[in-house]
Amino acid sequence: MRLEDKVALVTGAGSGIGRDSAILFAKEGAAVVCVDLNENTARGTEAEIKSSGGRAIAIRADVAIGDDCREMVEAAERAFGKLNVLFNNAGIMHADDDDALSTTEHVWELTMDINARGVFLGCKYGIPALQRAGGGSVINTASLVALMGSAAAQVAYTASKGAVLAMTRELAIVHAKENIRINALCPGPLKTELLMKFLDTDAKLQRRLVHIPIGRFGETKEIAQAALWLASDESSFMTGAQFVIDGGISAAYVTPE
Ligand code: NAD
Repeated sequence: MRLEDKVALVTGAGSGIGRDSAILFAKEGAAVVCVDLNENTARGTEAEIKSSGGRAIAIRADVAIGDDCREMVEAAERAFGKLNVLFNNAGIMHADDDDALSTTEHVWELTMDINARGVFLGCKYGIPALQRAGGGSVINTASLVALMGSAAAQVAYTASKGAVLAMTRELAIVHAKENIRINALCPGPLKTELLMKFLDTDAKLQRRLVHIPIGRFGETKEIAQAALWLASDESSFMTGAQFVIDGGISAAYVTPE
């Protein structure tokens, strides 16, 4: 098994990428700490893992709050004795996030608090646990919009993901000699509730689809597979990198008809 004897903490584990990753990590032998703001959905993921014979606990935490992040890491070490994999994945895309003219300061602050500060706090409290374990892997969920601009504006989200990517690179260098690898996942548009709520008209949907060479939105399971590789020792020479999984969007100048 690819994560045998490892302990992984996944934020946003109640839904989407986080849920699929938590379940996949457990299938590959990890004990998984399923963290979410929504305690019920975190418990749902925990139950699913346990029903297949895996090891998991559910923790309610708000990644934008320092005490919650400290406590989720403490809970991981208390339950399973150590932490090897930290997947800072929780994030939001606010329905009112738009261009700079119409996005409110409240939407900006909320988005930055969860998406950027949340990753910072996950690292602040999680990296010491990886140091205690003798090393490990940190995976931060950024986005393709950290690399490419979109005319379907979501300025706060895009800025927050740029922060995640820049922070990932710097932390990777700082901790490179400690056997701690830190990489960013950059998924393109996925068929998830988060994105489908944002692309709430057919016109908005088609506007995105036309730019995807593969011709469809990605699936959260496809991102979980990439996270698994980054979590495992198979990616042992990869750090400070952006792992782009986007159906070919960033490679395309003109997409096929
Ligand atoms: P999702 O909405 O299905 O899951 C996100 C989870 O995070 C939810 O369970 C939610 O309750 C939790 N969460 C939200 N705020 C939180 C907080 N403050 N503390 C703890 N948990 C919190 O979304 P998803 O599509 O699986 O997104 C996961 C990550 O992937 C996000 O960071 C998102 O920005 C990123 N991403 C998504 C897409 C996409 O197309 N869906 C593309 C690129 C990147």
